[in-house]
Amino acid sequence: MSKPIATRVILASFLFLLSSCSPSTPPPLPTETQSPSPTPPPSETALPTETPTAFPTLAPELERPQYVIDLQMSYSSKAAEVNQTITYPNRTGETLTNLVLAVEPNLWSGGFNLRTISVDGLPVLNYTLEPLSQRMEIVLPQPIPPGGTITLAMTYALILPQMQAYSNPNEIRPQIYGYSDRQVNFVDWYPFVVPYQSGEGWILHNPWFYGEHLVYDVADFDVTVSFTDGAAPQIAASGAEVASGLAASRKFELEAGRTFALSISTDYKVATQTVGNVKVFAYYFAFYDEEGEALLQTTAQALQVFSEKFGPYRHKTMTAVQGDFNDGMEYSAFYFISRDYFNLYDGTPVNYLVTIGAHETAHQWWFDAVANDQGIEPWLDEALATYSERVYYEAIYPDLVSSWQGYRYFEFQNAGAVDTQVYDGGGQRPYWDKVYLTGARFFQELRERVGDEIFFAFLKDYYAQYAGKRATAADFFRVLREHTSADLSDLMAKYFKNDY
Ligand SMILES: [Zn+2]
Repeated sequence: MSKPIATRVILASFLFLLSSCSPSTPPPLPTETQSPSPTPPPSETALPTETPTAFPTLAPELERPQYVIDLQMSYSSKAAEVNQTITYPNRTGETLTNLVLAVEPNLWSGGFNLRTISVDGLPVLNYTLEPLSQRMEIVLPQPIPPGGTITLAMTYALILPQMQAYSNPNEIRPQIYGYSDRQVNFVDWYPFVVPYQSGEGWILHNPWFYGEHLVYDVADFDVTVSFTDGAAPQIAASGAEVASGLAASRKFELEAGRTFALSISTDYKVATQTVGNVKVFAYYFAFYDEEGEALLQTTAQALQVFSEKFGPYRHKTMTAVQGDFNDGMEYSAFYFISRDYFNLYDGTPVNYLVTIGAHETAHQWWFDAVANDQGIEPWLDEALATYSERVYYEAIYPDLVSSWQGYRYFEFQNAGAVDTQVYDGGGQRPYWDKVYLTGARFFQELRERVGDEIFFAFLKDYYAQYAGKRATAADFFRVLREHTSADLSDLMAKYFKNDY
């Protein structure tokens, strides 16, 4: 069944969302893209005369950065004190003289207050973090040679912003970070070292009106949460809960993830289910039991389908959360889905609650496992996540594939190059049409061209080769051409503006 036209018009006007976003508020700037690693200016501080001990550490080399974060939150005042260490192995193959971190809470005035920062126990005084800038650059006291490891320790305070109303879907993203009257969301809430691309430098793009701009290395996370005001809310988290060893705190671990999200509320109800070795959670507000159960089922089904079609899911838990804002958004082992899809749910499978639930679950394969540059090549995760919706319906509701297609495309207006950046999307709606929907059409046409067997063998191989890494469009097409010698030149010309 499909929704009546009147409802569809409302959806079209306000709610036709294909998941995007991240923090809003900051004035968008032109693309900054990669900035080269600058030569460090002379250190402003006198370095200790004694030889620092074991700095930088050369062994043992970590496989990936380790984030240990202790979040002490006042639930009532929506503020937090944070102790954080990042153990960062230099696996770039180059000597690093600086580090660049993304500090998204600093995009809000007064939102981020750095208290202390040190590298291997030595205070860092030579760093920059301009007001309302997300870019923190630290000049290292000593370069990190290839294979070296440093420990960056910092303490800071967070003042969470109030989540903003979603005013115009064509102009501004909903804000996810912050609090509403019933939910507190910690997303991109801690400073993290952005990826370093050999020959290009640190990758940190500017926020844009729509779409995502952040790029992540894979990392391990150990996050402890406690409440300074005696509150005891429910905590939905990326990663699995482990014993904290302390009565007043809760601890979560995520291995080989991209970004660690938390959503906290005293109002949550929770439903759980186990799929294989994975525990699936759905957090939702009161009076949405039917919808919460549908969200849990969809997520569990999608995990099963995508594990079979693409490759094994990599985490121990998967958490879906009813977002108190108008969008869906993916994080590692975690996603939000809009309250509005809950309100519009009519019990039928072709419905945004189910469609977007499958979409966001697919991002665990195309975003969390196989990462990409979300600002420059957003189609790599978004077109695949959109196409994965179809894969979900084919497996779970095979009679409803054409209904899904009609539902998904009813507002489709303009095709365009799939390989569009967020910065040249031409507005949110045209951006979605190009990257998500035209992208999904490309995948369908590619599948019809090469056949199901080759198509899914290719996707499995692409996943196997790039899980835990970042893929580019060039990587994508290189793997594809290992699976087929079919002439794809007409498809490439039809869907892509760049040569791959
Ligand atoms: Zn998406």
